[in-house]
Amino acid sequence: MDFDVAVIGLGAMGSAALCHLARRGLRVVGLERFQEGHDKGSSHGESRAIRLGYFEHPSYVPLARQAYQNWAELERLTGETVLTKTGVLEIGKPGSVIFEGSLEASRLHGLEHEVLDTAEMRRRHPQFSLPEGYMTVWQPDGGFVRPELANRLHLELARGQGAQVRYQTQVLAIEPSGDGIRVRTASGELRAGRVVVAAGGWIGDLLPDLKPHLTLARQVLCWFSAREPEAVTPGKLPVFIIDGEDDIAYGFPDIGAGFKCASHLASGALGHADDAVQDAGPADEARIRDFLDAYLPAAAGPLRAMKTCFYTKTQDEDFVIDLHPDDDRIVIASPCSGHGYKFASVIGEVLADLAQSGGTVHDISRFTMARLNGEGSSDMDG
Ligand SMILES: Cc1cc2nc3c(=O)[nH]c(=O)nc-3n(C[C@H](O)[C@H](O)[C@H](O)COP(=O)(O)OP(=O)(O)OC[C@H]3O[C@@H](n4cnc5c(N)ncnc54)[C@H](O)[C@@H]3O)c2cc1C
Repeated sequence: MDFDVAVIGLGAMGSAALCHLARRGLRVVGLERFQEGHDKGSSHGESRAIRLGYFEHPSYVPLARQAYQNWAELERLTGETVLTKTGVLEIGKPGSVIFEGSLEASRLHGLEHEVLDTAEMRRRHPQFSLPEGYMTVWQPDGGFVRPELANRLHLELARGQGAQVRYQTQVLAIEPSGDGIRVRTASGELRAGRVVVAAGGWIGDLLPDLKPHLTLARQVLCWFSAREPEAVTPGKLPVFIIDGEDDIAYGFPDIGAGFKCASHLASGALGHADDAVQDAGPADEARIRDFLDAYLPAAAGPLRAMKTCFYTKTQDEDFVIDLHPDDDRIVIASPCSGHGYKFASVIGEVLADLAQSGGTVHDISRFTMARLNGEGSSDMDG
C-alpha cells in the first residue's frame, strides 16, 4: 500500500482533512488537479461568513461551535488570524427564513443574540436603509473566515507532518481493489487503504451515484469602493445577510480589496464544474448595485472587481458527509451547498475520523447519502 489515505481535491474540505490525517501520523497524500490557491472551484474570494445561529437549521449549531474551536486551534498552531468576529446581522421581514430561522436557532441553543427593529437598526447601523417592519437578529459571534489563508495553513501543517501534496494531478478514477483503493491519475496510479473524495463541484465525476443529486449554481462576488468608506470598515459594518423583496444578498466589511457583496441566489446554472469561467459582467454588477441602492446605499460606489464562483447544491441544501454505501473505504465530502466553508475546520476532523475508524463523535446523521434517495431520516437533534 502506498498510503493509508489519499485525499482527492485540496480545496476547503480536502486541505482540512489532509491536515487532520497527517497530524494523526497517517501516511497521506493530497491530490489536486489545479495549482495551489486556484480560483476555479468554490473556495476563493477573500472571505466566508461564519455564524452560530444557523437559519438553515438549528441542528447545525453544535457543528458550528466545534468549527469555531477548530479555527481557534488552527490559529494557535500557526500564529495567523483566520477568523475575525465582526458580529452578524440577519435581516428580513417577520416570517422570512433568514430572520425566523436565525432567531429559532439562537433561542433553541441559548446563543447570545438580540432582536433589533428598524428604529434600533437605524440607531446602531445608520448605513443601512431598511424598509419599515424589517427585523434583524444580531449575533456578536458572527464574522468571517479567510478561505485562501485557511486552506494554505491546513496544507502547510499537513506538509509539516509529512503529508505529500501533488498539484496538477487530476484523479481520473477510484477503483476498489483487494485490500485498498486504486487511484488512477493522469500521471500514473497509486494505492491507498482509504480515500477521501473532496472534489467539490467535480465530485459527481468520481462518484456517479452522487451526480444526479447535485446542481451547480453560478454565483458572482462583487467588490466596490464604498461611497462612504468609513461606513464599511470592520469596526462599523458587521457581516450581514438581507432577505430582501427581490433578492437575498450578503456582504462583508472592506478588509482590503473593497466592500464585498453577493447574491445568495443563483446567477445561472452550470452543466458541469468545468463550465465555470470568470465571465462576470454588467448584468451581474447591476443586480448587486440595485440591491445596495435599496438597502445599503453607503456601500455602492465604483466597482473594483468581480469574481465568479459556484455553489454545488443538494436538493435539500444539506451536506453529504458519509461513507460510500457500496464501499466504506471511500469517504464522501460534498461541497456543502453554498454554506460549508465555515465548517471546513470541523469537517476536516470528521473526514479524518471516518477515514481512520469509520465513525465520528460528531453528529452527521443529517448528511447521509441514503436520505438523497428517500431512505432513512435525519435524526440530528434540533
Ligand atoms: C461565492 C460563494 C460564497 C460562499 N459563501 C460562503 C459563506 O459565506 N460561508 C460559508 O460557510 N460557505 C460559503 N460558501 C460555500 C463554501 O465556500 C463551500 O461549501 C466550500 O468552499 C466547498 O469546499 P470544497 O472543498 O468542497 O470544494 P473546493 O474548495 O472547490 O475544492 C474542491 C477541489 O477539488 C479539486 N478537484 C476536483 N476534481 C478533482 C480531481 N478529479 N482530481 C483532483 N482534484 C480535483 C478542485 O480543483 C478543487 O480544488 C460559498 C461558496 C461560494 C461559491
